[in-house]
Amino acid sequence: MDRCPHVRGVRRLEFQAALIDDPVRRLRFLRSATKASDVGDGPASNRGLRALLVAVVMIPLLIDRNPAVLSAEPRTSAIFPRVSNYDPPTVWLVERGAEHEMYSNGLRIENAFLAATHKRSYQIFDREYPNRIAARTKTDPAGIVFHTSESMQLEFEEGRNGALQRIGESLLGYVRARRSYNFLIDRFGRTFRIVPETDVANHAGHSIWADAKYIYLNLNSSFIGVSFEAETQVGEQPAVNPAQIHAGRMLAAMLRSQYGIAVENCVTHAQVSVNPANMRIGYHTDWAANFPFAAMGLPDNYALALPSIATFGFTYDATFLRSTGRSLWRGLAAGEELLRQSAAARGVPAAEYRKALQRQYQEKISALRRLGVQEETSNEAN
Ligand SMILES: [Zn+2]
Repeated sequence: MDRCPHVRGVRRLEFQAALIDDPVRRLRFLRSATKASDVGDGPASNRGLRALLVAVVMIPLLIDRNPAVLSAEPRTSAIFPRVSNYDPPTVWLVERGAEHEMYSNGLRIENAFLAATHKRSYQIFDREYPNRIAARTKTDPAGIVFHTSESMQLEFEEGRNGALQRIGESLLGYVRARRSYNFLIDRFGRTFRIVPETDVANHAGHSIWADAKYIYLNLNSSFIGVSFEAETQVGEQPAVNPAQIHAGRMLAAMLRSQYGIAVENCVTHAQVSVNPANMRIGYHTDWAANFPFAAMGLPDNYALALPSIATFGFTYDATFLRSTGRSLWRGLAAGEELLRQSAAARGVPAAEYRKALQRQYQEKISALRRLGVQEETSNEAN
């Protein structure tokens, strides 16, 4: 049977588009082709052409390692909402084997390195009334913290298959022994569950995040740790390869679907890590730059004001600024601006207000300790 004329049209268009090297010109070409077809075609074929536009233009934009493309985040995020409004995806378990799971979006989880710890149980603070503990105890994961393993990286090429596999397995053994993360995605894009989602992994140490409603402190108990076998790079290049991005996107979708995780609670370790000893942020700097939020199906959360600064008055030093990319600067600046506005609204100098916020943080940590719900927290893992 012959393909329908519409499919033939799509394939011809795809072929013609592929001949155009420049992504912006390619986008223009496809846009004008889509527009032209809007006149004569019905809605179904328009949807098909738009899907093609996404496939041909968006996917290369999202995974291309070309610095010029990766640095153009506003452009990709401006386009992205048209294909996804970040509603929780629907992903379900299809099959569970002895050492693997398969999900409806193609995600495959390897369970050969599984290690239990202890069950999640944590308390949160109401954002509107920060002095009030919001709920007695919560046990469902509220968010995801993305990490890099910061482990030794070998050039990713065919001739090094054996060494790449050996290094990956040695890393898996290392993180399993320390229960460092809930998931690790190796360099071939394989997703390993290390600690079950129901259990606490030692991934976030001293850390702070907040969504519209709640403040979360020390996120091991409340957030799932997902790590990529990679090293954070401050330059324009992302630290992960396309196979890892693909796996990360599927895993993030599954976790959001299974646990109803809000998109604003999908953040990187550098965004949440703090050092209570000197009240500075960024004790850990993994994914301080270049986390491919758009390619992970997430909004650009680097732009969110850092709650560590805005709500608890943390500061930062020159070393941290050197380790961050331009993206995270926006979150820093937004946090500082919120702090200044709150101080002005209360008619107190910003420095004085900051000190008060810092005291509030120390009080909260002490309160959690007194309640006996604050487990051991160290900043050891990456
Ligand atoms: Zn980390």
